[in-house]
Amino acid sequence: MESVGGRVTLCNARGVTPTLAVVLVGEDPASEVYVRNKGKKAAQLGIATRDHRLPDATTTEALLAVVATLNADPEVDGILVQLPLPGHVDEQAVLLAVDPAKDVDGFHPANLGRLVIGSPVFIPCTPQGCMLLLESAGVDPAGKRALVIGRSTIVGKPVAQLLVAAHATVTIAHSRTVDLPAEVARAEIVIAAVGRPRFVQGEWLAQGATVIDVGINRLPTGKLCGDVAFDSARERVGAITPVPGGVGPMTIACLMGNVVLAAERRAKIV
Ligand code: NDP
Repeated sequence: MESVGGRVTLCNARGVTPTLAVVLVGEDPASEVYVRNKGKKAAQLGIATRDHRLPDATTTEALLAVVATLNADPEVDGILVQLPLPGHVDEQAVLLAVDPAKDVDGFHPANLGRLVIGSPVFIPCTPQGCMLLLESAGVDPAGKRALVIGRSTIVGKPVAQLLVAAHATVTIAHSRTVDLPAEVARAEIVIAAVGRPRFVQGEWLAQGATVIDVGINRLPTGKLCGDVAFDSARERVGAITPVPGGVGPMTIACLMGNVVLAAERRAKIV
C-alpha cells in the first residue's frame, strides 16, 4: 500500500494540496498540545494546515459560521474541531454542521452510521489506530474474545464496531459493569478507554492477552500514564501499548490518512 507521503505526492501531481483546517476554541492546555502535534505531523507529510483559533467566549452561532465557511471552501479537505469545546457551546450542533465529506475525525452521524453498516469512509482516528496497532502486533481479532472498556462515541463504541467487523466476539464494559475484573480475565484482547489512571490492574488480565491502552491521564507529578497499570500488566500480557506513545501517535497518523483520503476524493484519485 502507498505510504501517506506517497499519496500526498500523487495528490500534488493533480494540483491538489491536502489541507486540514483546525478549529480550536479557548485555551485548554491539552488541546493546545494536540493541535501543535497534529500541525507538526501534517507539515512533515506535506499536508497544509489552517489554524482557526477562537476565544473561549465564542458562541455556538459564531462557531457554526466558521464551520460553514470551511465547508464552502473548495481548498479545505478536512475540518477538525478540537474537542472538548467550552461548556456553553452546543458541541452536537457543531459536529453535525461539519460536511460529512470533510469530517476527517469521523464523528458525524453520517460517518458513524456508515461504519455501523460496514461501508465506512472516514473511520474515527483513535479506533482506527487501535486496529492498526493490533495488526502491527500480528493479532487477528477473528474469533477472539475482545473487551472494550468505555462506551464513548469517539472511542469505545466505534472501536467495538471495528472489532465486530473484524469478526471478534465483543463485550463493551462501562461504569455500570458489575464485575469488571471477571470480564477482563476472559478477554484475549482488551481495549481500555476509561480515562482513569492505571485503573485496569495487571492481575486482572489473562496470560498472553493483547492490551491497547487508549487512556491519557496526567498524574499530579505532571507525568502521563494510561488506563492500565503498565508495570504489573507487562508481566502477564503478550503485548501492551505504552502511554505516552502507542495509541496517541497512531491517532495522529490516522487523522493524516483521513485528510489525504479526503484530498484523494477531491483529486478524483479514489
Ligand atoms: P469518556 O469519559 O467519554 O468515556 C469513558 C468511559 O469509561 C465511559 O463509557 C465510562 O462509562 C467508562 N467508565 C468510567 N468509569 C468506569 C469504571 N469504573 N468501570 C468501567 N468503565 C468505566 O472518555 P473517552 O472515551 O473520550 O476517553 C477515554 C480515555 O482515552 C481518556 O483518558 C482520554 O484522554 C483518552 N483518549 C485518548 C486518545 C488518544 O489519541 N490516545 C483519543 C481520545 C481519548 P459510562 O459510559 O457508564 O459513564
